[in-house]
Amino acid sequence: IQDRHSVGKLGLMAELRNALNKNKLELFYQPKRCVVTNEIHSAEALLRWNHPEHGFIPPEEIIALAEQTGFIHDVTVWVLESAIKQASLWIKKGIKLNIAVNLSAHNLQDEKIVKHVRALLAESGFSPKYLTLEITENAMMADPEHAVKLLSHLSAMGIRLAVDDFGTGFSSLGYLKRLPVNELKIDKSFVMDMVKNDNDAVIVRSTIDLAHNLGLKVVAEGVEDNDTMDLLKILRCDTAQGYLISKPVPAKDFEKWLKNTNSQTKVAHHPSSRNIS
Ligand code: C2E
Ligand code: CA
Ligand code: CA
Repeated sequence: IQDRHSVGKLGLMAELRNALNKNKLELFYQPKRCVVTNEIHSAEALLRWNHPEHGFIPPEEIIALAEQTGFIHDVTVWVLESAIKQASLWIKKGIKLNIAVNLSAHNLQDEKIVKHVRALLAESGFSPKYLTLEITENAMMADPEHAVKLLSHLSAMGIRLAVDDFGTGFSSLGYLKRLPVNELKIDKSFVMDMVKNDNDAVIVRSTIDLAHNLGLKVVAEGVEDNDTMDLLKILRCDTAQGYLISKPVPAKDFEKWLKNTNSQTKVAHHPSSRNIS
């Protein structure tokens, strides 16, 4: 797929349009776990396209393709709409989850995203406090003045905002302070090796401290083993996301997984008579 030349790209672009119109794109959901209580309060929606010939196409490729052709706005609106629909269904069933949706760098350059998000929330009656928008550090820093403006509109609506892939870009602390964000997501490249690599551990620890000093919550992504989870606990990270907890899975599987894990968490939280004696 990497070497596909432009004709192939055009073909794939047409197929992507078609897949979107026929509702053939999907969202998978990955839980985020509270490091302190072990509870699941939120999940990230991740785009999936199971192409009839090529199989699953990496979401980065879908997004890059959509960005090159100006189709990204439609893709993002589809993702937002689908995630809100799913989260609303869950809320009706008593499953209260904050759903995170990724915005592309291109969405940030386009004022109409604000209008569309507002319209989607109004139409669905979905409470903005259950929506998080994740935007990469690089996307925010490409035009920080503009980002401050656009993000302020979204934040004023009551939506939660997260800086994604934190640590891979070039944030200026001055801007970070001015951005109306609620959360930093430490990039998995630092988290995955932090137990073995002291440099990575230092970066993770400093990021957690920085975030807390700025009044922000921290999510570590790419948590794959218990040692990493334990270290994150020691470093007072707030939330963990990664294969250790669950891979991204379809909505139905997510629901089953959540039922299972919640019953286990409850047991773990009330260790019966052991504490009393
Ligand atoms: P991201 O936003 O940083 O999302 C996290 C990625 O890390 C996901 O890859 C997830 O499956 C993967 N991941 C989670 N836990 C682990 C772990 O423990 N170990 C490892 N090795 N990986 C883990 P995915 O789903 O392939 O998505 C890749 C990227 O594509 C995302 O990175 C995001 O930048 C982009 N993306 C996905 N869906 C969307 C979307 O709807 N809109 C936009 N604009 N971008 C999207
Ligand atoms: Ca993300
Ligand atoms: Ca990332």
